[in-house]
Amino acid sequence: MFKIGCHLSASSGYVHMLNEAISIGANTFQFFTRNPRGGKAKAIDEKDVEEFNKLAKENYFAQILAHAPYTLNACSETERTREFALEVFADDLKRLEYTPNNLYNFHPGSHVGQGSEKGIELIAETLNKVLFEDMTTTVLLETMAGKGSEVGRSFEEIRAIIDKVELNDKLGVCLDTCHVFDGGYDIVNDLDGVLDEFDSVIGLHRLKAIHLNDSLHGYESHKDRHAKIGEGHLGNDAIIRIINHPKLKHLPFFLETPNDVPGYGREIAFLKENYTE
Ligand code: FE
Ligand code: FE
Ligand code: ZN
Repeated sequence: MFKIGCHLSASSGYVHMLNEAISIGANTFQFFTRNPRGGKAKAIDEKDVEEFNKLAKENYFAQILAHAPYTLNACSETERTREFALEVFADDLKRLEYTPNNLYNFHPGSHVGQGSEKGIELIAETLNKVLFEDMTTTVLLETMAGKGSEVGRSFEEIRAIIDKVELNDKLGVCLDTCHVFDGGYDIVNDLDGVLDEFDSVIGLHRLKAIHLNDSLHGYESHKDRHAKIGEGHLGNDAIIRIINHPKLKHLPFFLETPNDVPGYGREIAFLKENYTE
């Protein structure tokens, strides 16, 4: 089964997102757990989550992906920002247990001049505080483009974080196609080579989701600007190879392209046409 979805607005609740996803041919979706710029999350509506859990099962939904706010920086140089990251992370993980067995994605963070080694240490420290034994959510580290002082710009940095986390059976990776290409992994000309490298550095068993985006800027540009499918430097052929790759095709794919909901619907229709079951 092709698992395909896109980023949706969470403002009207889970059931609304599920129905919106169905209306554009998706069987999963991504959403922000709260305002992407930070702030308080809306209270959980128990009726909404209960209904969602039922409908997701009935409609054979794939795992959904909750995205942490961008302001969550577990390796900030300021203590207050790290405390905020800890609070948001812990609160999100608690809330996500209302919709069990799904995925939570976060940007490892920006070390803001402290160096990536220190950054890796601080991120692992946060994870060691927030992960708990009986949680059902899998927490995903997103591969980053290497803009500014971003941590997670290489497979080695992701692996180094995972290695420092005690409950690392709760951890996985979300590979963003725009970010890795931007970051210097040539998934256009050497997808097999990049996946082999991922496997030897991190292990493909950790790969749990794909952010499927084209890239506005070229290879190794470290810019992190998403483009619509086929309208960037990846192009349709590379994207079709990605969704059909035997090592990737079972994973859920999430579009984060600059689109409104009908635009996502058109991309999903195009991808479905080009996916081989
Ligand atoms: Fe992201
Ligand atoms: Fe992404
Ligand atoms: Zn991005």
